[in-house]
Amino acid sequence: MSEEQGPLPYETAKPLAYEWTDRAADMQDEGVLVAVAVTTDGVVGTTVRGPCPRCAHRIEDQQVDTVVMGGAVAVLGADASEVPDVGAAPDALALALVRVVVTCSCGQEHPGRPDDVTAGCGISFAVLADETPP
Ligand SMILES: [Zn+2]
Ligand SMILES: [Zn+2]
Repeated sequence: MSEEQGPLPYETAKPLAYEWTDRAADMQDEGVLVAVAVTTDGVVGTTVRGPCPRCAHRIEDQQVDTVVMGGAVAVLGADASEVPDVGAAPDALALALVRVVVTCSCGQEHPGRPDDVTAGCGISFAVLADETPP
């Protein structure tokens, strides 16, 4: 599909509206928006890839966060299959989903974009990134 529409104006009124996060969740369910997290030595790297929930332009967002969560990270990073049933489960569950806030960074034109902003249509949304199995 390659229908051309006029460029959407840059969003300034409600850049953090929940509807973008809501739509992003639907798009994740449909498989068009992909969010993955990879933990390496206690550092969580996330990649979010797919169309922006507002402007539908393709974005790719990569972030790296250092997360210190005691032993759970090391256990998960080493070998998830050896995580004991007892004790570590709550932390392991918490780590399996990483909340990522993504700001649209499409390279397309959106009229009204501020001079100090180089990309995107102005919105941010949150997604839950699944930790990819090793
Ligand atoms: Zn865009
Ligand atoms: Zn956008």
